[in-house]
Amino acid sequence: MSTDPAPPEGVVGEHALRADAHRRWEEAVLPTLVRYATIPCLSPDFDEDWEAHGHLAEAASLLHGWASDRAVDGLRADVVGAPRRTPLLLVDAPPTAGAGGTVLVYGHLDKQPPLGEWREGLGPYTPKREGDRLYGRGTGDDGYALFAAVTAVELLDGAGIPRPRVIVLVEASEESGSPDLPAHLADVGDRLGSPDLVVCLDSGCLTYDRLWLTSSLRGNLIATVTVQVLTEGVHSGSAGGIVPTSFRLLRTLLDRLEDPHTGEVRLASLHAEVPGPATGAPPDWEAAEVFPIVPGLELDGASDRDRLTRRAWAPAMAVTGMDGIPAVRDGGNVLRPFTTAKISLRLPPTVDASKARDAVESVLLADPPSGACVRVHFDALGTGWAAPPLEQWVDAAFTRASEELFGAAPGVLGEGGSIPFLAMLGDRYPGVPLVATGVLGPGSNAHGPNEFLHLPMAEAVTVATARLVQAAGARASGPPR
Ligand SMILES: [Zn+2]
Repeated sequence: MSTDPAPPEGVVGEHALRADAHRRWEEAVLPTLVRYATIPCLSPDFDEDWEAHGHLAEAASLLHGWASDRAVDGLRADVVGAPRRTPLLLVDAPPTAGAGGTVLVYGHLDKQPPLGEWREGLGPYTPKREGDRLYGRGTGDDGYALFAAVTAVELLDGAGIPRPRVIVLVEASEESGSPDLPAHLADVGDRLGSPDLVVCLDSGCLTYDRLWLTSSLRGNLIATVTVQVLTEGVHSGSAGGIVPTSFRLLRTLLDRLEDPHTGEVRLASLHAEVPGPATGAPPDWEAAEVFPIVPGLELDGASDRDRLTRRAWAPAMAVTGMDGIPAVRDGGNVLRPFTTAKISLRLPPTVDASKARDAVESVLLADPPSGACVRVHFDALGTGWAAPPLEQWVDAAFTRASEELFGAAPGVLGEGGSIPFLAMLGDRYPGVPLVATGVLGPGSNAHGPNEFLHLPMAEAVTVATARLVQAAGARASGPPR
């Protein structure tokens, strides 16, 4: 005999939904997701010849084929293309009879590069399942999203639960800052209509024991700084001590941006007022499964909770690449002509990225150290996002889904990363509730080596998406408000 408690009033077949999600993931999703994981469909920023290589088109076509094969009444899937533009996959599932409303679900299919050595037996394009984990680049960020969204539709239809129209939008330039998305939205905007709810499946979770709602995202500013002292390299024995080195001068420039001892960003205009301390139990950041830190490393931040707040709301700088410096084995006794550093600056959710850029630029270009030639170039620019308070019906549906799935209320998380799409969408659909959630939790290592998709979390997010769609339909079909 089942000892499951009776379902809360108004919830249809939740245990069946969870079981059905598991079955569909195992049988219908994983074979195609594994094939997707073998495709090196890097985002355009990481593959200049992406168009000639055709990997993004191949991935879009694979996902398009899978979506087209779903037994959903009237479902239409299209790959929208334009010259020099990454493909956009649109899946449109018309509402079930008599139901109203529209839900837009977002995901992306482009990937980060492999980045670093993967553990023995794993590789970025050789997917491997180990228990609850499917390893491979792009499995969790964000290949699973299309499968979760369309499977959510199948779950509701399979359970006979009425639902609104669902549009799944999967883009292919997200990891490059979504440069192609505005043009795509302009082209297909009419087809999207006016959604009642937007669900973004490209975010993270702090644990795998509940659903997580993203309350904010940081912005991002990428700059390349070059300090040049000579027109060509010279013998370091003859010039050393006379010609200042470009590395030292670059270091002093970077010290204008951050305190070299503490890592605190020095520009007041890059800080924002923190809305309040982070909620939820902070992780033990020193635990091996959070970050692969070396033994004995002292983390920044005063406490585990402070680190949670810092990751969501503090600016932070990292040097992500350098030029003008040979590899160690090639280093000679040369005073090099220039040093270039690429820096990535994470910005608090409410800091305007273009104002931050102006501030960084003027600080770097003012009063060049030792009169050296300093050049600054900015790449991507992304303003962060702070979620407006969720409408009660969305909050209730998400909370109920977390309790149904895990027996625990959802967590709320300010994310350290960026999703430029959310700011674009907030501008496009002002006032439309936006739920950002996802599977990227402890150890999942999106953007690093050994990325994995946590399969039970993917199934849970699938059911949660179904519940949000169901709630949007009930609201749209309900009595006038
Ligand atoms: Zn992503």
